[in-house]
Amino acid sequence: MKQKLPPELNRKAWLYAALIVLMMLILGGGAFLLLTHEWEEAPHIPAVSAATQAAAQGLDEIRITAALDPDARTLTFTQEMALTNSTGQVQSAVVLRSWSGAYLSEATSPCASDELFYECYGASFSPGGLQVDTAEVNGAPVTATWLDEASTVLSLPAEWPAGESVAVRLTCTVTIPACASRFGYADGVFMLGNVFPVAAVWQEGAWRTDAYAAIGDPFLSECANWQVTLSVPAGYEVAASAPGTQDGTGAYTFDALALRDFALVVSRDFVQAQAMAEGVLVTAYARSEADAKAMLRAATQAMASYAKRWGDYAYPAFTLAEAVFPYGGMEYPGMVMIGSDVLATGGQVLEYTVAHETAHQWWAVMVGSDGWFDPWQDESLCEYAWLDYVGDWYGAADREQMAFDRIETAMRITIPGGVTPGSPIDYFTDLTQYSRIVYQRGAAFWCAMEIHLGKDGLDAMLRDYQAQFRFRIATREDLTHVLNQHAGMDMSGLMLDYLDTLMN
Ligand SMILES: [Zn+2]
Repeated sequence: MKQKLPPELNRKAWLYAALIVLMMLILGGGAFLLLTHEWEEAPHIPAVSAATQAAAQGLDEIRITAALDPDARTLTFTQEMALTNSTGQVQSAVVLRSWSGAYLSEATSPCASDELFYECYGASFSPGGLQVDTAEVNGAPVTATWLDEASTVLSLPAEWPAGESVAVRLTCTVTIPACASRFGYADGVFMLGNVFPVAAVWQEGAWRTDAYAAIGDPFLSECANWQVTLSVPAGYEVAASAPGTQDGTGAYTFDALALRDFALVVSRDFVQAQAMAEGVLVTAYARSEADAKAMLRAATQAMASYAKRWGDYAYPAFTLAEAVFPYGGMEYPGMVMIGSDVLATGGQVLEYTVAHETAHQWWAVMVGSDGWFDPWQDESLCEYAWLDYVGDWYGAADREQMAFDRIETAMRITIPGGVTPGSPIDYFTDLTQYSRIVYQRGAAFWCAMEIHLGKDGLDAMLRDYQAQFRFRIATREDLTHVLNQHAGMDMSGLMLDYLDTLMN
């Protein structure tokens, strides 16, 4: 039943209604101005934070002068490195990792697996990878030797005392395969991930020389300071791991402090969209303006969700680039690649992929972890991060639905294989099994922690983990230690249940 109001109350009601509408207009207009202000602020490259500058002190230095020849599909470059021996013992060689070498042969290419071959290469294999033309250590020519069949472990003889710096100079030619992959060329886009050699990581008395697996991201590297100069023919747009400036000849120079790796994506067909978010210059490159804007919007939203929970993004710029490959997305320091298929699908698939890859800037990039033995350590957190994104931008009900659809469901379905979220990457047989177990069942562990610590307690724990291990590589033990501190009890038993116990 609708109650009739007395006339003067009716007038008052109208007056109140008018006032409320006026206030909503003023507040709404203010909010709109704030939002558009964020988007329309003239993009500029922000200064590197004092904390990142401090972290860069004493790191290895890498200086690269490169030229891309799109017609020949080659990247030629000179790479000079000042590397410090932090192994605590005398070394007789400098050992570098250069993962692109695996693409030289069908026997070792991560894209030549049964699952990926056709999607990456199409009808026939296309070789590509890094070849060393000349090598020098401390100014003297040396012979560079590959220690593995896949040409991913490069050894240069050197007398290298503990704590001392060594100067390495390489000239290299990278042949870019016709391969829809994080390293390769397809449909007018050059995806140049893992093309520059990086220092191998020394752990427990040995260099890490793990093979390039077909599943997961088998890369591990410490932070270094990079300066990369790249020449490209006129008309090519370059997306990179760091913000760039262009000189009169069209060559780009990129400077990056305390970065684990440096990747590039180059295309003549790219257009860009740009905005400032959380004090960071965010740039998205795609072959259509609508796709660039869609990536940019999701990325700025994701950065807002994550920065307030886990702490500031460490670098002045964050870049997204369209990549032609079947992986959905791929993270690199300062830049992520987002698959053309994902952009074409759009909607929630695009938002999920961008939110996941953006979360990797905290988990994998800033806080390094072992992508070979502990892929769950970053992947499960990036999957869990999607819930925060959905909660912030779509509300609590959607967040709950998403937790059920992606995470609880993954706990119920039967997955053959005898693998757990805590397994190393070479235990997995296909990408679906890998993502269900490592990402989704791994994220179930974080949902359990959310119940145990409370949402604010879990966010505080992750913020602390991030602050303690930013610019370093955190082991599973390191993470367990932070978790135990915040829980006030030993959580390793619960971790064992979720991460190492066979379910079905
Ligand atoms: Zn991931």
